[in-house]
Amino acid sequence: MKVNKFVGAHVSAAGGVFNAPLNAQKIGARAFALFTKNQRQWRARALKEEEIKKFKENLKKVGISPEHVLPHDSYLINLGSPEPEKRRKSLQAFIEEVERCYQLGLKYLNFHPGSSLGKVSEEECLKIVADSLNEALSRTKGVILVIENTAGQGSSVGYRFEHIARIIELVEDKSRIGVCLDTCHLFAAGYDIRTQEAYEKTMKEFDEIVGFKYLKGMHLNDAKSELGSRVDRHHSIGKGNIGLEAFRFIMNDERLNEIPLILETIDPSIWKEEIELLYSLIEE
Ligand SMILES: [Zn+2]
Ligand SMILES: [Zn+2]
Repeated sequence: MKVNKFVGAHVSAAGGVFNAPLNAQKIGARAFALFTKNQRQWRARALKEEEIKKFKENLKKVGISPEHVLPHDSYLINLGSPEPEKRRKSLQAFIEEVERCYQLGLKYLNFHPGSSLGKVSEEECLKIVADSLNEALSRTKGVILVIENTAGQGSSVGYRFEHIARIIELVEDKSRIGVCLDTCHLFAAGYDIRTQEAYEKTMKEFDEIVGFKYLKGMHLNDAKSELGSRVDRHHSIGKGNIGLEAFRFIMNDERLNEIPLILETIDPSIWKEEIELLYSLIEE
């Protein structure tokens, strides 16, 4: 049986980006996510030629292709900031991250849309995000910018499919925009996936409002938080309020073939077991 699912985790790049593919291999991953720089700092020194070369070599060595790597941007970045100076700083850092992904030969950069800080309406914030993306797209090449749905914690936007659709609508170059669905964020935002019926309803809604053609990856996380709580608290697969069944639906959903499916669960020491568990859910 050919397995079309590409499961991995957000692995460490400590010591250099080239270590990430090796860390993915250690846990039996067929895909992975990483930060290409320290996610809690604004600036980073440029990647050295030697590091880039080593990253590409290691990727080849572990047999993971660039379209199964889903880099995540820094948590400091807010492309929807209503404060011009903060937005400018965010955009500059974001563009640098797009360039790093391009240098590494990667196809995607996954990001959270942004936050209104309670100072502007959600619609206004979504427009600022789209403006930021249009500028980032015009100043970079190659990399697809992948919007992640959010839990809607605080004043962040992107917790409704309509928000994501609105951003895409306002982006000029739609060939370079994608979406990543995080299961914990879905659940916290009020989208149920715990039963087959609920799962199909949520996915149908996603398809109608956003469209599966934009789906470039998923984050597989169980949730410590409750349905609709707007609280972003990840849990290990099968141990939270979503439960294992939802992941069975995902692992058997053909619409999710060929895209990176990334664990961001709370206990890296069991990622290997979680990956095995997820593959064991595939029905023949
Ligand atoms: Zn994220
Ligand atoms: Zn996520």
